[in-house]
Amino acid sequence: MKIRIERAQCVGNARCFAIAEDLYPLDDEGYIATDGFEVPADRERDAKNGARACPERIIFVNDETGQQVWPPVEGLTRT
Ligand code: SF4
Repeated sequence: MKIRIERAQCVGNARCFAIAEDLYPLDDEGYIATDGFEVPADRERDAKNGARACPERIIFVNDETGQQVWPPVEGLTRT
């Protein structure tokens, strides 16, 4: 699993940091300090929860096949 972050769009509200401060470090001004990372197998839950916590939806989660699993991709789920 991989995390990718559209860092330039971060608004610095630290929601991700509040979930997992080691995965989502902030810079001195409170903005996200990483463009992304490979998620350790034992941290997938924290990584996903951190991504879901971002109200800007700029934290993307891709599974091992490269498919985006968060935010939901429009058009893939039909009701
Ligand atoms: S939750 Fe989103 S907007 Fe807030 S600090 Fe983290 S990446 Fe930035």
